[in-house]
Amino acid sequence: MTLFDLEKIVRPNIKSLQPYRCARDDYKHGILLDANENTHGPSLAEISQIEATQELNRYPDPHQLKIKQLLSNLRNDLSGFCNGSIVQPITPDNICLGVGSDESIDALMRVFCVPGKDKLLTCPPTYGMYSVCAQVNDVQVMKVNLKFNKGNFQIDTDTVSKVLTQDPSIKLVYLTTPGNPTATLLDPRDIEKLLNHPTWNGIVIIDEAYIDFAPKGSTLAPLVTKYPNLAVLQTLSKAFGLAGARLGITFANPKVIQFLNSIRYPYNISTCTSQIVERALSPAGISVMHQNVAKIVSERSRLISNIKKFDRVGDFLSADHANFLLVEILNKSSKKPCSETAFKIYKYLAEKKQVVVRFRGSEPGCDGALRITVGRKQENNVLLKEIENAFKLY
Ligand SMILES: *Cc1c(COP(=O)(O)O)cnc(C)c1O
Repeated sequence: MTLFDLEKIVRPNIKSLQPYRCARDDYKHGILLDANENTHGPSLAEISQIEATQELNRYPDPHQLKIKQLLSNLRNDLSGFCNGSIVQPITPDNICLGVGSDESIDALMRVFCVPGKDKLLTCPPTYGMYSVCAQVNDVQVMKVNLKFNKGNFQIDTDTVSKVLTQDPSIKLVYLTTPGNPTATLLDPRDIEKLLNHPTWNGIVIIDEAYIDFAPKGSTLAPLVTKYPNLAVLQTLSKAFGLAGARLGITFANPKVIQFLNSIRYPYNISTCTSQIVERALSPAGISVMHQNVAKIVSERSRLISNIKKFDRVGDFLSADHANFLLVEILNKSSKKPCSETAFKIYKYLAEKKQVVVRFRGSEPGCDGALRITVGRKQENNVLLKEIENAFKLY
């Protein structure tokens, strides 16, 4: 961090970008004939009362301050690791909103990585979108696998640090905590080591898509007020149950946020999304989120203890910090982790029983692994029954 110099790592074309000015940036009230909208209203034959108040014929608010304030309030949680760190409260200046965190993942690459030249680093096994976005942007991906030691996937900080020292063209490090598919929180001290790298000039990105399923106080979002080289990604797709509404959040230093906002399509958050999100972030909405998370967490424990009873299940590869489990399937005769068997069981469950889980056996450290989302009680009971049946066949 001693060397961190934002101006040096932002792409030159982004630094000199003049952001698009919206019609509504200048005047907001009166007879609005400035944006070529249709003042007759939306072409819907029937319109509900709620829709009538949405003014869907108008462009949405490009700034979404209200949502950013609600998110700041939600994430100013200093109960855990951030307790004791010298952090300031998060404010709307620390936030950029995206169409799901997939857009946030992509935006960071487009601000910092010159196509065909710069690189980023990931720590597999991890979320697939980092590599997909990197390829779309023509950005090379360096990989340093997580250290895996029986269900504790952690950053290999020594190797990552060494690679960052050797290769200054790496501009971004993408880490996931709790991990996908590992369901394991990364040790925040390892993340701080990377943030304090003595020579590397780049941004550490922490993807916290599953943070609300982890113990309270696990978020590192407040640390963005301490580290100018940290970006924390969150989403309403998981704990808030709003994958269909598409809202992703980047928390970072205001200067990083300014660059992210400068490349953002001005109307990326639709009126429908922002109204739903405001309701979800109200005290009543947050309380529903906590209730649903509590149900998932309790089902997660039940699912773990029941799955462990199968002699065909080996070590648990994941911790219990997310809304899914990574389960190791053993070969019938050798009793060793077996991806071939896991794949057969995955296909059988999906095609014969309409129970769909995810095969992850090709990922590093994940031999024989199936990733199973924690569902409702009845769904989990069907899953357990059908896995038992599958073990008789394969
Ligand atoms: C599910 C998931 C996301 C969410 O993406 P959205 O675009 O916000 O739906 C982001 N990161 C990880 C690691 C995920 O597993």
